[in-house]
Amino acid sequence: YPLSLHDALTIYKQMKVFKFGGASIKDARGVRNVASMLAKNDGEILVVVSAMGKTTDLLETLVRSYFNGWDETSAIFGQFRAFHLSLAGELFGSDEKIPAGIPEMIGELEKRLQVPLSLLYDFEYDQLICYGELVSSLILSCYLEETGLSNRWIDIRPSLRTDDKFREASVNWKWTEMLVSNNFQFNSHRMIVTQGFIGSTVTNLSTTLGREGSDYTAAILASMLSAESVTIWKDVPGVLNADPKLFPDTVLLKELSYREAIEMTYSGAQVIHPKTMKPLYNKSIPLMVRSFVNPESPGTVIHQPDHPLELIPVFITRENQVLITFSPYDFSFISSGDISTVFAMMSAKGLKVNLIQKTAIDLNLLVDAPELGLETMVLDMRKEYEVKYNTGLTLITIRHYTAESVEKLTSGRKIYIEQYSRLTAKLAVV
Ligand code: ASP
Ligand code: MG
Repeated sequence: YPLSLHDALTIYKQMKVFKFGGASIKDARGVRNVASMLAKNDGEILVVVSAMGKTTDLLETLVRSYFNGWDETSAIFGQFRAFHLSLAGELFGSDEKIPAGIPEMIGELEKRLQVPLSLLYDFEYDQLICYGELVSSLILSCYLEETGLSNRWIDIRPSLRTDDKFREASVNWKWTEMLVSNNFQFNSHRMIVTQGFIGSTVTNLSTTLGREGSDYTAAILASMLSAESVTIWKDVPGVLNADPKLFPDTVLLKELSYREAIEMTYSGAQVIHPKTMKPLYNKSIPLMVRSFVNPESPGTVIHQPDHPLELIPVFITRENQVLITFSPYDFSFISSGDISTVFAMMSAKGLKVNLIQKTAIDLNLLVDAPELGLETMVLDMRKEYEVKYNTGLTLITIRHYTAESVEKLTSGRKIYIEQYSRLTAKLAVV
């Protein structure tokens, strides 16, 4: 079919995906900074945003209050509204100049709070929590328009189809791919602004992809639309070899393979969501992690390098670990059958296993502490095995470890369990 001139001209120029997290748009100054960064980039850009600042945490308190029928509900909602309206008032010059769609969107959340409760917490959670992203993306879109950056705001939910596992939904890839390629057209705009983290079921119930899931959304869209690259704009210079909040001397990793990035983020590095890499790897789309504070500096590129990379030690800590030790009651050895029974228990209880180690009659598992109900779970496990457990451990992962780096991180700490593979040391410590 005939191409428009615009389409013909852009056909060889692939679009870019930019993802802005909550920290980059936590106040009016942040939104202005994002707008000025977007103004400096030419070509088509698909902008994916999170909720502003700590809005998702605030909405989590709203969900808890609403679900329990507490009196605080309207006060918490009031905080949500006041935060966004005052930020928008500052951006647009006065309250009167705020585009009507913004208070209307906030009003939708207020109306949703009048809906009688179901008994399904996770379902209710997703119906409310999505307003963080809906409102933030709308404010950004209207502000870009106001500053002369013509853009199309898209509610991603009818395109990003998921199953109905609320709070941790899985993307229906085939459906979503078809819907995204139909719906995410730039038309005559240079930019699209949409939400990370949220989606919907086939019956249009809102869902979310898990906390911090906006990076993953950016990767999904980039993969489906064959973007040239994805850039995640952060408040750190790029991917560092350790969390700067915990370590004084961190080093910027200029280049990483997808594999290295998956290992780091899966072990607990907070810089990117661990699910982000796979869709990009499959299409060889590079992922840039850069600073919105210093947009000129190159940051980190995650891709498939064609040369060997220098591998310095990388430190990742994961708090709140529980070490659970299983032993058969009758003093028999741990068999493959026992391992499979224990793992079936872990998956039934939704416990994430981070480390496994076995001796003759002990099977040790290090798991993320569940939010609730550890004691009950252990009681249940004791029906089949003798169970001992310790809480409050930290899992230290060192990629490309050296004797010196292990010593530095563990000195003065009690090591409960340690494991060394070719590239990785893992130590559970207190
Ligand atoms: N706003 C959501 C959260 O804070 C998603 C995200 O930031 O990626 O978890
Ligand atoms: Mg966030």
